[in-house]
Amino acid sequence: MNFTLIGRSGCGKGTQAKLLMKHFGNLFYISTGDLFRDLAKADTDTSIRIKKIIKEGGLPFDDMATTLWMHKLAYNLKERQGFILDGAPRRVNEAKSLDKFLDFLDRKDRTFNLLIDISREEAFGRLSKRRICKKCGRLIPWVGEFKKIKVCDKCGGELVTRPDDSPEAIKSRLDYYDERVTKVVKYYEDQNRLIRINGEQPIEDVFKEILIKLK
Ligand SMILES: [Zn+2]
Repeated sequence: MNFTLIGRSGCGKGTQAKLLMKHFGNLFYISTGDLFRDLAKADTDTSIRIKKIIKEGGLPFDDMATTLWMHKLAYNLKERQGFILDGAPRRVNEAKSLDKFLDFLDRKDRTFNLLIDISREEAFGRLSKRRICKKCGRLIPWVGEFKKIKVCDKCGGELVTRPDDSPEAIKSRLDYYDERVTKVVKYYEDQNRLIRINGEQPIEDVFKEILIKLK
């Protein structure tokens, strides 16, 4: 089984990815966000440009993300192993490239495209209120029980809002979703390959809905 996880920032994709990995085991995990952050740490001509994009906003060229995760899968994914693509595809071109790759691997029928659906308003609220631990960097989402936490539940550190969670930055991330990712949703929906999950319910219930709809 393979999964792509899409949805607005703050929808809880990462959390659901972890639950899927725990439940199904043997899934290779890829986060495009992590791939870009890793790349930014390198000392190459590309990494300098990626750093600038992460800091100042803007978009890498159309096949950049595709190239990164395809490379990662090509070098790591074993024959009897599934994968989770967390936060991708985000553009129709990426979805099409992924389809070609899945055809090549003969995995298209076993790939489930999950949309963790939350409204723009809900996403905005979660992103502007979520906090990060000053000491260990743990990100505390603004959902359920986490809302009550006063200090980091892992290390006791102070919780602050993230600098890149300013209203302008959040707005631009959500605009990106509305302008581009919704087209990916439509691409999968038109081919009857989208599984839509209500993301505005407790974490456990979101996961339960995923398991029910996979059957
Ligand atoms: Zn901490």
